[in-house]
Amino acid sequence: MMALLTLLGCGGEASGPPIVWITLDTVSAAHMRLYGGRAEMPTLERFARDAVVFDHAYSHFPQTQQSHWTMFTSTLPEVHRTASDARTTMYAGPTIAEHLAAAGYATGGFVGGLTLSIEASGLDRGFGVYDHASAWGRDNDLRPASQVRAQALAWMAEQDRPYFAFINLFEAHSAYEPKDGKRYDPDYTGHADGSLATLARERSNPWMSPRDIAHVVALYDAELTELDQELEALFAAIPAEAIVVVTSDHGESFDHGYLFNHPEVVYDSVLHVPLLIRAPGIPARREAAQVGLMDLTPTVLQLAGLPPMVGAAGHPLLPETPPRSPLYARSRAPTGGRALLAARTPTAKGVFEEGGASWAFDLVADPGEHARTALPAELADAQTRYDALAATDLPRGLPSRFQPPAHELKERLEALGYTSAEDGRAAEHPGSRPPIHPGAPPGPPPGPRPEATLQVESAGPPPPR
Ligand SMILES: [Zn+2]
Repeated sequence: MMALLTLLGCGGEASGPPIVWITLDTVSAAHMRLYGGRAEMPTLERFARDAVVFDHAYSHFPQTQQSHWTMFTSTLPEVHRTASDARTTMYAGPTIAEHLAAAGYATGGFVGGLTLSIEASGLDRGFGVYDHASAWGRDNDLRPASQVRAQALAWMAEQDRPYFAFINLFEAHSAYEPKDGKRYDPDYTGHADGSLATLARERSNPWMSPRDIAHVVALYDAELTELDQELEALFAAIPAEAIVVVTSDHGESFDHGYLFNHPEVVYDSVLHVPLLIRAPGIPARREAAQVGLMDLTPTVLQLAGLPPMVGAAGHPLLPETPPRSPLYARSRAPTGGRALLAARTPTAKGVFEEGGASWAFDLVADPGEHARTALPAELADAQTRYDALAATDLPRGLPSRFQPPAHELKERLEALGYTSAEDGRAAEHPGSRPPIHPGAPPGPPPGPRPEATLQVESAGPPPPR
């Protein structure tokens, strides 16, 4: 046991409430009844009665790894520079898990998706336990929520000091295969389903009618409802004094000719996410201010009474909520296409192609973002401002500490649409971006990394004893 404690790398004596941070992967806010959509999520709706529900929370990058890195570092994607086929981030600054571990917190991560495995994300930095054990494979990118929950709850129950539990549930991500496929579309008689094979076929060679697509959306919505059923036992076990964050890393697109996926566009369908925070002393309310996921780490640290984190560019959202405008989001470049930058105000969204055109959407007259307009004056220089923001905080890049993913993992990620030429370039040439502060000293060395894979069943070498 002593060896284990040493491995966990305890910091000082911690004092503070437990922190439970739940990401419901790939949940579009607009599909939830809580946000005016169809998918009933009664457990979350009950939770919302005691929480601050943010009506306008947005992801900064609609892809799993980058979005989680932005949440946990409170930096823009351009700053942490995480690539999606992993080999990890080049960010040299701290993550919230490292920050909390240094403050004496026990830190545990429990993930349900292949894309957040250590090999695919490098997100285990700072976690004493990072539970990503699964027989990941070509047809298995999901670990059931019941398993993830059981691991997380067992770990939480063992802790005798304040803890930070990160729990990622992957059910809403494609494939969309709810147990009850007729829940929201009982009369459908067509041939569309939510399997990865069907979705991939439609993406490469469209054949679905609008009616078929509507059915697939109904399958997605049914998955949200079934995901909600998994939350009941989880919420029941979280202590009342805990700070609880429930959000998603990104949504899902079913429109604009971009179907059943998320990383390559910046429409609200993929950026608008649920965000609920329950914390002692914070009265429940609906919050209308536009906020970003990069604000979560500063929020949690302030609520816990802990010092702010070095490098964090977000601001606390509670007790008062300062709006973030414009809010920036980036997308991944599609094969043969260009990456996008979005700058969103509450009423307009400017979109900038990397090295290309720019346009806008009037979010009041055209909330579905179908009619391009000219950039409003307030967003005309948004790209320049984003570059300046990113440059201000650009860290001294650290080389990757991770090996390229094994062949099978890479194939699997590709099948999920998770790699691209852009990511490959970023990962293979981490120094290709010109340094902003060429004279700056290198960042601190990464130092010995606590063994974080206590429950890993990978083929790698056993953890040191
Ligand atoms: Zn995701």
